[in-house]
Amino acid sequence: MPSHAEGNGSLTIVGLGPGRLEYITPRAMKAVARAEYVLGHSMYLEPLKPLLEGKTVISSSMGKEVDRAQQAIDLAKTGHVAIVSGGDAGVYGMASIVLEVLEHSGINISVEIVPGVTAANAAASRVGSPLSGDFAVISLSDLLTPLEVIEQRLDAVFTLGIPVVLYNPRSRGRPDNLALAIGIARKHLGPETPVGIVKNALRDDEKTLVTTLGVMEQSMDAVDMHTTVIIGGRESRIWRMGDDVKGIITPRGYHKKYVY
Ligand code: SAH
Repeated sequence: MPSHAEGNGSLTIVGLGPGRLEYITPRAMKAVARAEYVLGHSMYLEPLKPLLEGKTVISSSMGKEVDRAQQAIDLAKTGHVAIVSGGDAGVYGMASIVLEVLEHSGINISVEIVPGVTAANAAASRVGSPLSGDFAVISLSDLLTPLEVIEQRLDAVFTLGIPVVLYNPRSRGRPDNLALAIGIARKHLGPETPVGIVKNALRDDEKTLVTTLGVMEQSMDAVDMHTTVIIGGRESRIWRMGDDVKGIITPRGYHKKYVY
């Protein structure tokens, strides 16, 4: 809800969705169109180029999130500012740091958060319906969360037997976290458990792969920082059309109540 404004400016924290322009919500488009200043990582600003003419665009690199948040708040005292994240800004995105810095500053400005399609939904849509019921989301990035905490969380969620979505699955700086996650998954799930690997979901260079936990090692190279990995739960199974593997289905349980 927009808060009572002190200055004439405004701050909109915008989730841009997974990539292609057609997956940006109309509300997010409007927020960017209205803004005088647009801040964000250059990778996320690229698809917006047609919308950015005449605006002050401030692009920065990963790792500069705190500076970017501070700058956005300064500008928003008098101007209309959009600060953008890929996917949803509230899911491993810029929303929390912007709100924390704003709270700390004691400034009262108008704030709106515009949701976007997060990678879990984008990736799931490319491999059937793997996340049909309860599921969990874990980031394997240990930049802000210690590795032992990530391990504890992985162990806890895989115990539940629900599908688990892994964000930030593998980078050059930490190539081993994915193998660690797979090892923990195998303690709780059988080798036939389906795994969906979606790189650049809903972007032009998209790649999808459906495999199983038992042979996941063979596909590690398909995983990088532009990839989301979905590990099925106890109920999940491969979805076939004829002999073709199309994706993953996690049944919601209709088959227990209905005949179809
Ligand atoms: N705020 C973003 C997530 C940022 S964390 C969101 O809500 O989607 C960055 C991680 O998100 C990447 O390492 C990758 O795991 C995932 N990701 C983001 N966009 C993606 C896409 N288009 N395809 C596949 N994975 C994506």
